[in-house]
Amino acid sequence: MKLIFLGPPGAGKGTLALRATDILKVQQISTGSIFRAEMAAKSPLGLKVKSIIDAGKLVDDETTIALVKQRLSQDDVQNGFILDGFPRTIPQAQALDEFCTVDKVVNFDIPDSGVLERLGGRRVCRKCGFNFHMTFNKPSKDDVCDHCGGEVYTREDDKSDAVQKRLEVYREQTAPLINFYREKGLLVDIDAKPMIDEIVVSFKKALGI
Ligand code: AMP
Repeated sequence: MKLIFLGPPGAGKGTLALRATDILKVQQISTGSIFRAEMAAKSPLGLKVKSIIDAGKLVDDETTIALVKQRLSQDDVQNGFILDGFPRTIPQAQALDEFCTVDKVVNFDIPDSGVLERLGGRRVCRKCGFNFHMTFNKPSKDDVCDHCGGEVYTREDDKSDAVQKRLEVYREQTAPLINFYREKGLLVDIDAKPMIDEIVVSFKKALGI
């Protein structure tokens, strides 16, 4: 199955993607994680995007589309994938239409208050990318990942100023994708407010699996 996860930052797309890849036996493609890995490696791409990402802005469409087009050409995603964090603009969605057909777009419905609560407490493992939350899902030791022993840290773009910017960017540039995909008959809505186990149930129901 070929899916897009659409929703504001902090809606739980990455957390559900982790569970859904196991259920559907497909790969997760997170553009944010790819950019973060490039930043950690201090590659030319990583150096180019760091200040943009840290400020909560979007990387330019041309760079992002080229990255996803290349990733979608690889063998391990020919039978299915979850696109987590792409597309984020109408031009990205139009470009994707030209090189790929998706089965469904899952829209994560959550109010700003839910987003702020999740991002405020989010901590991420620098090594495996696992998301923790200081209230709902704390690591056993404050800054050590329970899964791989990596360092658990606060993303620069989860700090308050960047979060406000990301929400503004979401409203202006990404939210119009809801109607774009609804008009194509591809959109399914899920309530992203509950805890993850309940969201998994809604997700399966929405996809009829
Ligand atoms: P995420 O982990 O999905 O929240 O993405 C983190 C950051 O990476 C975003 O705030 C953007 O700066 C950048 N990014 C991720 N995906 C995209 C995209 N599709 N288009 C532009 N920038 C992106």
